[in-house]
Formats: sequence, C-alpha cells, structure tokens
Amino acid sequence: MPYDIAVVGGGPAGLSAAINARARGKSVVVVGNDYRESPLYRAERVDNYLGMPGQTGAELMEAYRRHAEAMEVDFCAGRVLNIMQMEGTCYLSIGSEMEMAKAVVLATGVVRGKKLPGEARYLGQGVSYCATCDGMLYRGKPVVVVGMAPDAPEEANFLQGIGCQVTYVSAHAPKNLIPAIPHMKSGKLEIVGEETVTALRVNDTELPAQCVFLLRSAMPPTDLLPDLALEDGYITVDRQMRTNLPGIYAAGDCTGLPLQLSKAVGEGLVAGQAAAEYVDQLSNS
Ligand SMILES: Cc1cc2nc3c(=O)[nH]c(=O)nc-3n(C[C@H](O)[C@H](O)[C@H](O)COP(=O)(O)OP(=O)(O)OC[C@H]3O[C@@H](n4cnc5c(N)ncnc54)[C@H](O)[C@@H]3O)c2cc1C
Repeated sequence: MPYDIAVVGGGPAGLSAAINARARGKSVVVVGNDYRESPLYRAERVDNYLGMPGQTGAELMEAYRRHAEAMEVDFCAGRVLNIMQMEGTCYLSIGSEMEMAKAVVLATGVVRGKKLPGEARYLGQGVSYCATCDGMLYRGKPVVVVGMAPDAPEEANFLQGIGCQVTYVSAHAPKNLIPAIPHMKSGKLEIVGEETVTALRVNDTELPAQCVFLLRSAMPPTDLLPDLALEDGYITVDRQMRTNLPGIYAAGDCTGLPLQLSKAVGEGLVAGQAAAEYVDQLSNS
C-alpha cells in the first residue's frame, strides 16, 4: 500500500509538512538523512524564531523530531535518488529500496556545491550516487568513493567488504573508515574517462577507477524529477506550495529566499495541508 504522503528531507520544512499532514489523518513517511545533518543542527543560537529566542539549532531539531515521532510519522533513513510518477502513484528510489506515495513534499533544503566536471557526462557509465545499488558491478575492480555525507565511510566499507578496491577521497579525515581503505585529501576533482570512467583526477594525481561513487547528503531537485520547474535555481511554487507537477509540493529553503527557519516551518505547514487535500481529492475522484 502506498503512503498518502512521502516527504523528502527531514529538516524543519519536512517535519512541519509531516506533522500537519498527520494532523489531517494522512499516513506519512519522511525519507531523509539523520536529523542531525540538517544545517539548523549546527546553529549555535537561533534568536529570530518567534517566542523561543536563544535556543540552539540542535535543541530545536530534537524537539521537532520528538514532535514528529509523537504524531506517528514514519521515518525511512536514506537519500532519495529518483522519483517517478505513474498512474497517480509516486515511486521514490532510496538506494536499492523503494517507497510509494500518492503525493510528495520536497523539503530538500539547499544543495551546496556544483557538479564535478565529468559527472553528468559519465552518469550511469561509471558515475554512481548509490553504493548499495551499483557496488556489485564493480567487485574486484578499482573504485573511488568521494565522501561528502556523514554516512559515506560506511558505504565505502560496504564496497570494500563486497570485494571492490576502494580509495576514499574527502575534505577531512573520515571517521569509521576501515584501515584497509586508503584515504586521500580532496582537492580539485575531475572525473575522466573514454566511453566509461577510467579515473578520478585529484589535483594532478589520477586515481584509477572504473566507478566513482559520489556520496552527497542532498540531491538537486531536478535530479529527482527532471521536469520540475525552477526559477533562479529554486523550485517554483504557488501559494499552496504546488510545483508544476501534479501531486508534487515543495517547502523550505528549496523554494527560495529567505533561507530561514520560520519560512521553512510555515511553508511546511502549507505544503502538508495542501498535499493532504490533494490525497482527499484523489480518493473522491
Ligand atoms: C549555521 C546555521 C545557522 C542558522 N541560523 C539560523 C537562524 O538563526 N535563524 C533562522 O531562521 N535560520 C537559520 N539558519 C537557516 C535554517 O537552518 C534553514 O533555513 C532551515 O534549516 C531550512 O529548513 P529546510 O527543512 O528547508 O532545509 P534543511 O534544514 O536543509 O533540511 C533539508 C534536509 O533534506 C535532506 N535531503 C536533501 N536531499 C535529500 C534527498 N534526496 N533524500 C533525502 N534527504 C534529502 C538534507 O540532507 C537535509 O537534512 C541557519 C543555518 C545554518 C547553516
């Protein structure tokens, strides 16, 4: 059975959408990274959140999470890599897993950082965003993991465990990486190849690789839904937080400025309620 609503991203906008959809009696799953990965979690002090000045971002995120759990929101840990819509159902690929929902709220925040040179050219031909989906194709072969998400070392360990020859590249020394995996400090990165990927260039060094796994915390929304309309890089929405695609809503930083907590929470409320109304209309049609 599909959920009524799937929310992509477990930050303030996503959790606000989730609890407000639950308040309308809808089944809701939030697909996201650990809530401690929301940028808000790093805020030392938030002074412009009405009625609650002086809280830390961590305190607020923990309170949001407790609230969502108390409202019986379901949680699914992982990154959504792709969303497909077919006959009124949305199919969300989460690594090698799948969730289904009648409506989706995108609450993905802002994706910082550009695509790497060669990334788009070699996607599916030696560039992957998912170790568990594609790792088996590269058993016994050299691969590079570019770790940009906190769970990336675990994914690299998984690849090494199934027999890939892994090199790990990241800006900071990773925690929890098994000693058998060499680590190289990140620099200017470029994916190079011929028909398929042959190496990752790090500054002037070429690391041979048949696959480069790019493990980020967030995905640009148009990677999830290529037909999504954007304006200045942000998802275009109307006052109901509807996107140009039926059944797809968006809220929070991903819809544009100001990139602030109160706006994220408010838009989450509107998106959650509007998505719930959409699900009601589907059931009555
Ligand atoms: C250091 C700092 C201090 C701040 N201080 C303040 C302040 O004082 N006042 C204020 O109003 N605002 C402040 N902000 C801004 C505030 O944190 C943001 O506006 C707010 O977090 C936006 O919420 P959001 O839910 O839209 O996005 P986010 O909080 O960014 O949450 C989005 C979540 O979605 C996840 N995600 C993205 N793509 C996917 C995918 N494909 N699959 C699964 N999950 C995905 C991301 O990893 C992230 O966890 C601060 C931000 C920072 C970084």
